[in-house]
Amino acid sequence: MQTSIIPVFIPHIGCPHRCVFCNQWQITGHQGLPTPDEVRRLIVAYTASARTRRHWEVAFYGGSFTAMPGAVQEQLLQPAYEALTAGTIDAIRCSTRPDCITPEILQRLQHYGLTCVELGVQSMDDAVLQQARRGHTAGDVVAATALLRQYGFTVGHQLMPGLPGEDWPSLVRTTAAICHLQPDLARIYPVAVLEGTDLADSWRSGCYQPLTIHEGVVRSAYMKQHFLEEGIKCIRTGLQATEDLDDDTQVLAGAYTPAMGELVDTRRYGQKLLPFLRSLPDEEMITICYNRRDTSRVRGYHNVTIKTAAWSLSQTLQWRQGDVPVGHIYVFQGRTRYDIDVNSKTGPTMI
Ligand code: SF4
Repeated sequence: MQTSIIPVFIPHIGCPHRCVFCNQWQITGHQGLPTPDEVRRLIVAYTASARTRRHWEVAFYGGSFTAMPGAVQEQLLQPAYEALTAGTIDAIRCSTRPDCITPEILQRLQHYGLTCVELGVQSMDDAVLQQARRGHTAGDVVAATALLRQYGFTVGHQLMPGLPGEDWPSLVRTTAAICHLQPDLARIYPVAVLEGTDLADSWRSGCYQPLTIHEGVVRSAYMKQHFLEEGIKCIRTGLQATEDLDDDTQVLAGAYTPAMGELVDTRRYGQKLLPFLRSLPDEEMITICYNRRDTSRVRGYHNVTIKTAAWSLSQTLQWRQGDVPVGHIYVFQGRTRYDIDVNSKTGPTMI
């Protein structure tokens, strides 16, 4: 069944300060705290408009949900809980800071039926966290993840490649640390420089050099590939396009493009497929076969992988959809068939 999110934005509410990169008013397009009645109306508006049955999840995003006063959390959770017990929605989730997770907080969330907590981790490098003025350490992430697990929550980690002070070794260490912690899911948001943030001032003064889109793709693809290989679901790569984000007076620099997810998958699939094709003999034609849903991932964004293969490989290639599991690519040459499991560590196998 299709999962649909009912987003309840609490922009910057609960945040003890502003992190250098963050402007939730711009990212979410919302201001201020919604009232319980607004949450109630939002749930009705979403669920009543759907033609088919869906898995509805109310999500409190855009601030530090568990850092708000307990009474405010309860006021917002109450209408969601009522919808949950009435069967109108199926789940409740929130995002928050790693240093705002305690047994008391988790007991409250459980009482209101919330089952998934996403932590704004950003990096597992304390020097990077300090420069981003996050106000927490990698140790807080470890402790919060352990406590969430102990209480049986689904755990999400949100990561931001490209923060000030992050170099390639730092990214590799963060990726390894997250793989070790094994959250259930991850989101990867390469840094975009947003108007109205301290990062924008650093960029203007030349103190911060943001990632290019290409660098954002390279770092995000590295993270995503390792997460998937370790069984961590990657549910988003790149900020969701909004009117504000597509306004270049608001996104000043950095790795923002609405196509980030497609570019990252183009790179991941291409890195598995192209070196393997290069290793095959060139006497016989090669057929590359993939699931319909993987079409743009295999062929590449704007067919870039097909074009790269055409100018860089000597073999004759044919590309077609077929009866192939999602995430796999079958390569046929003569009577031999190979299976590339893109999200796995193992190399191509003969089948
Ligand atoms: S990143 Fe999270 S904690 Fe930091 S200002 Fe934004 S919403 Fe608040």
